[in-house]
Amino acid sequence: MFSNDGGFKISPYPDGKHFAFTVTDDPDHSKIQKVKTMYGFLDEIGLKTTVAVWVKECSRANGEPDTEGRFDYGATLQNEEYRNYILSLRNKGFEIALHTVSGCNDLRKGTIDGYEQFRSIFGEYPKMNIMHSMNLDNVYWGAKVFKSKAAQWFFKNVVGMVYPKASFSFGGEDPQSRYYWADILKEKTKYVRLWGTSDINTLKFNPSMPYHDPDRPEINYWFSFSDGHNMEAFLQLISDKNIEKLVRERGASIVYTHFAAGFIKRAGDNSYAVDEQVKKQLIKIAQQKDGWFVPASTLLDRLQAIKNVSLIDKGRALIVVNSNPFPVEGMTLAAPQGAVLYDNEHKKITVNDEGEILIGTLKANESSTLYKSADSYSINNISPGYLEQWKLLISRALVWFYAN
Ligand SMILES: [Zn+2]
Repeated sequence: MFSNDGGFKISPYPDGKHFAFTVTDDPDHSKIQKVKTMYGFLDEIGLKTTVAVWVKECSRANGEPDTEGRFDYGATLQNEEYRNYILSLRNKGFEIALHTVSGCNDLRKGTIDGYEQFRSIFGEYPKMNIMHSMNLDNVYWGAKVFKSKAAQWFFKNVVGMVYPKASFSFGGEDPQSRYYWADILKEKTKYVRLWGTSDINTLKFNPSMPYHDPDRPEINYWFSFSDGHNMEAFLQLISDKNIEKLVRERGASIVYTHFAAGFIKRAGDNSYAVDEQVKKQLIKIAQQKDGWFVPASTLLDRLQAIKNVSLIDKGRALIVVNSNPFPVEGMTLAAPQGAVLYDNEHKKITVNDEGEILIGTLKANESSTLYKSADSYSINNISPGYLEQWKLLISRALVWFYAN
């Protein structure tokens, strides 16, 4: 989306930022002390990320067979200390997402109840949902990830022989199922996660994200992730080489992880600390010049808005059009080195040494014209062509000839 091939391009990021990095962290096996240790550190270095939570304790199993019972897979908002801490993170600018309503199968009634509890705590419904592994309420999950019936059959029956969870009957999108809740998801939640890659640049893997798939109408927008599911995978993903690649490619990374999976060490005196290597790499990212560090939904909102901003090259001028019904702030263009543009008042706009032109805010449905030369009075000031020249000359001659 943003390359140096000599032309002008729209940057997806605001105010001359070069790349984006964020994390979504699932609550599996989380404990309040570990959560406080990890997020205290992230807050300190200025990485505002997305925390996925469970609203309710488990009252059923996870996956098949679905039996009633109590299971503990990690902290939930039912715990007051955890709830208050998560609320404080939200107030500091972190995003709170849903990891389905609980860590186990949720019946429709439980999901409705969980959504309302979420709203009563945070004042709004979750903007993002990340499905938890084997919850039978997951939407378009298991074999249903595939659209073709043949692929679904293969996944369920052949892959299911090796991995039993592939054969589970997930039913979140099926109105006949007792786990059905896709209507609630559509009404109240904007983003749902699906595909993943080992590439740190999630946007390179899925350039159209966030995208709507008409065959899955209940999902407003899908997005993808870069895989850092445990500490080993996370460290591999944010190696020096990959950080350098993300910055060079001006990419966007939405890392999927579980910070409870090995990131926090407990010392002899019962204190907790973030793993030194994790700290070192995350500080390296946070210190990168021009990184954009916002929660996943903020990044996805921006990527979606940028899809509705067009750059039209009229030869003599560039027109940047915002077709969104809302303002887009900090509009930035990538520009070839040495390029010069002029605004409406013939004022020179310089390309900065990072090859960018900062346009600023484009209001709702507003366009901005940037001229390539100071004397362009009109972007369509085209001179007569060969045929038009002859026609003008002959007609004028006839008028002269017949006059009097
Ligand atoms: Zn999970």
